[in-house]
Amino acid sequence: MRRQDISLVFRTAALAGTAVFAAAAPGTAYAWQPFSIGPVTAAPGTTVSGTLTVPARPGDEGTTIPISIVHGAKPGPVLALMAGVHGQEYTPVLALQRLLKSLDARTLTGTVVLVHVANMPSYLARTIYYSPADGKNLNRVFPGRADGTLSERIALVLTREVIERATHVVDLHCGDGNESLRPYTYWITTGGPVVADAGKQMALAFGLDHIVVDRERPSDPQASVYLSNTAITRGKPALTIESGGLARTDEESVAAIERGIAGLLKHLGMRADGPAPVAQPIWIERSEVLRSSGTGIFYPAVERGHTVAQGTLIGRVTDFHGRVLEEVRAPFPGEVLYGIGTPAISKGEPVAFVGSATAGQK
Ligand SMILES: [Zn+2]
Repeated sequence: MRRQDISLVFRTAALAGTAVFAAAAPGTAYAWQPFSIGPVTAAPGTTVSGTLTVPARPGDEGTTIPISIVHGAKPGPVLALMAGVHGQEYTPVLALQRLLKSLDARTLTGTVVLVHVANMPSYLARTIYYSPADGKNLNRVFPGRADGTLSERIALVLTREVIERATHVVDLHCGDGNESLRPYTYWITTGGPVVADAGKQMALAFGLDHIVVDRERPSDPQASVYLSNTAITRGKPALTIESGGLARTDEESVAAIERGIAGLLKHLGMRADGPAPVAQPIWIERSEVLRSSGTGIFYPAVERGHTVAQGTLIGRVTDFHGRVLEEVRAPFPGEVLYGIGTPAISKGEPVAFVGSATAGQK
């Protein structure tokens, strides 16, 4: 079988929820092949690191994407872990650095692809939300374009080289450099019921107890917009997770990501040991990003994780002469999942993300 055929078998088996890799037990007819992404090739049982290139075009110099392939000795899923889609989100980047040291290809079943810094222009320039190269948010331009701006071309390389080669995808985020965030996972319901349910099981396995149910992602694979949705619209279960924020590198947030990945590796049958799925998830069935209607200075009135009533003051926006432009209030009772923690605010940008928790359902 060609490599693509093999990965399709694993994906189908994983989605069907069968004893996932029975078909890949030792003694089956085909050999486990080396795994390549761009110029990076790993033989079974080895870890290899290298760099993907996004070539220059008129208007920019292109960029590079550092990756590692941990190719297990035994066949199994291909789990892609993506960090640094937003350049000032550091905790996922650090978690993958640790994972690279701790994963043992000789005992791993399947393959882990680590994308260490997906958005190098934003990382090196330390920008929030938007690339310094084109002013675009990388996580809004998927699946990308070959003749597009730099962010669009990065998205295309990630789509073709990584997402389309994976069986499962996790897009690792935290609050951006200006966002104070409590950890949570997005479970995205787009896609067929088998893919959606596999994503749900991944969300539970990741172990963060707050799971935002996101029912509003587009279903067109050619206009998937978001990284994880690019995988889902191609039939691959995927997650987006958030742990950390405010450009910090705190141990608690990094460790939560490490723990989540360990839970996924166990869930997917890639490693024997690992933490159990979250026992009592809080499904956030209703959520809303609250946005500023003005440009100026933001003064938060609540902290991440605070419980708010309908009408609770979330924060105030003033102009640069101190006049209050707006008081942002909670639209419904819930919890502050993230809030802006630094003063700069522009019209239309988020000031907070509020979710309504209903425990023990779904
Ligand atoms: Zn992000």
